[in-house]
Amino acid sequence: MAKKQFKAESKKLLDMMVNSIYTNKDIFLRELISNASDALDKRYYHALADDATGMAREDYRIQIAVDKDARTLTVSDNGCGMTDKELESNLGTIARSGSLDFKSGLENKSAVEIIGQFGVGFYSAFMVSDKVTVESRTHDSEQGYRWVSAGADGYTITPCDKETAGTTVTLHIKEDTDDEKYSRYLEDYKIREIVSKYSDYIRYPIMMDTETEEPVEGSEDETRTVVKPTQLNSMVPLWRKNKNEITKEEYDNFYQSKFYDYEAPLHTIHSKTEGQISYDALLYIPAHASFDYYTKEFEKGLQLYTNGVLIMEKCADLLPDYFSFVRGLVDSADLTLNISRETLQQDHLLKIIAKNIEKKIKSELEKLLKNDREAYEKFFAAFGLQLKFGLYQNYGMNKDTLKDLIMFRSSAEKKMTTLAEYVSRMPEAQKTIYYACGETVDKIDLLPQTDAVKAKGFEVLYCTDDVDEFALRMLREYDGKTFTNICADELDLDTEAEKEALKAENDAAKDLLTFLKESLDGAVDAVRFTGKLQNHPVCLTSEGMLSLEMEKVLNAMPNANQGAKAQLVLEINRNHPIAATLKALFGTDDEKLKKYAKLLYAQSCLISGKPLDDPTEFSSLVCELMV
Ligand code: ADP
Repeated sequence: MAKKQFKAESKKLLDMMVNSIYTNKDIFLRELISNASDALDKRYYHALADDATGMAREDYRIQIAVDKDARTLTVSDNGCGMTDKELESNLGTIARSGSLDFKSGLENKSAVEIIGQFGVGFYSAFMVSDKVTVESRTHDSEQGYRWVSAGADGYTITPCDKETAGTTVTLHIKEDTDDEKYSRYLEDYKIREIVSKYSDYIRYPIMMDTETEEPVEGSEDETRTVVKPTQLNSMVPLWRKNKNEITKEEYDNFYQSKFYDYEAPLHTIHSKTEGQISYDALLYIPAHASFDYYTKEFEKGLQLYTNGVLIMEKCADLLPDYFSFVRGLVDSADLTLNISRETLQQDHLLKIIAKNIEKKIKSELEKLLKNDREAYEKFFAAFGLQLKFGLYQNYGMNKDTLKDLIMFRSSAEKKMTTLAEYVSRMPEAQKTIYYACGETVDKIDLLPQTDAVKAKGFEVLYCTDDVDEFALRMLREYDGKTFTNICADELDLDTEAEKEALKAENDAAKDLLTFLKESLDGAVDAVRFTGKLQNHPVCLTSEGMLSLEMEKVLNAMPNANQGAKAQLVLEINRNHPIAATLKALFGTDDEKLKKYAKLLYAQSCLISGKPLDDPTEFSSLVCELMV
């Protein structure tokens, strides 16, 4: 009989499983059990609809059996089963990868990451077995089919007799090696352990014949070994248990297996709410952003259950966009099964739950910030961008919710800081919160304006994300303190006398400054002397609504109409020798002065990270000076 080949990507994943370096091999059983449970769900719902299967809820079960001599482990269910076509399409390809581009990037990813992204699924059986047989029959067919594969060299599908509808998966367990004791998967204790660790909450009984000691009748101390059907799972969903009965490991395992994450969550929130509406919520903050988190493909949402029965896989209405990174579920007995019909009452209840959940997440994040700084900073590195977007979106409607959760890197030891912490460190003399924008902290630090503000003993926030300045401008003020972009706004660091003197100097040099401005052919709106620079000869600032950084961001947006333009001011350090040179040249060598204007403007552009308008001209001017 001809062997069929696996699809290319499936083969890769399969190879990975066969030669698995994935240490946690135990999870193969969890995967088979959860497939069986899904199949039971499908048949159960089908039965609800047409009532023809003649099965009661109690009849649905998962059966595990071990044959030590044959070295086989069998997982059976009386669920929906598969036709030959379904065996072919479901087990010959990776189901879970769906529309994701599995091939791209496969090469440079570790097995753990791939498993994290796509889930392991059925193929994980090959981590522990050298041959897998699946026998299956749907309830509306007389004919069963057998799928057999020994790994990457392909599989066969042949008709077979099968007495009952459902699926039986038989694993031929690998022989032990020096590093791996595969035989433990043929031991009762190991199977019990894995089931109670990963599949305890499965809502169908998981049965296995196990050996137990029983007292012999009529004897005081004699016992005999009997084999009895035993249920291995409690069937109580984790979230319905009491908090103090659940270990961190159980919470983490549940999260990792349910949401396919290879890393434990950063923070777990388990809450029970009673009252106007009663519900249990189990929410997790992941330790890292999923690979698609910042893409359009990402769908937010929480699982929605009523009385332990899943009614919606991703209920988007339960999470605001700015907390979309939260994974988890809500279970409420007050909701009815046919949520899709969305009665008004239902809708109203969901809104109340959503509001409560939002409050809960916010307060938990605040607690985390207060009690576990390291974890919070890790969280912020992964999801801070989302919070800042949230602050900016919808005209700042949610700024009060988010303003205490955002952080920036600050010139105070270049550490992360919240706005509250910044304000608490402000000296008496400081009136406003200073920030500067740029590509990196180091580049911002090199700005002449940063020097000037730091020299006064004031702290600067480094805005390195595009959204930062938009968020701060939306916020407008924090704790009564306004924000000042040190490259755009009036810095106001000088005393009254200094201001007077500067104004007099600028007035006196009015003609020179106009000449310089005109030499630059409209590149800047004004040229001015300034007293704020320490050592640098020049800097570029902006006036009006748009800063230089915002101009960059707006013009980089897709479909931007390239129209955004900041009003620029070239500022020249009045205390730098160049100031005297310019004054001396004015009226004596205007040709040279014109060239100097261009050079100084080009320097200010370079310093602030603005591309030069004419790099060739700049280069020739510099050489002219050198020769
Ligand atoms: P996933 O379960 O994530 O879809 P798997 O690789 O584990 O991915 O399984 C692939 C598909 O095979 C499933 O989606 C399901 O359609 C089918 N399948 C697996 N096990 C069973 C089973 N016991 N009964 C019926 N169908 C099954």
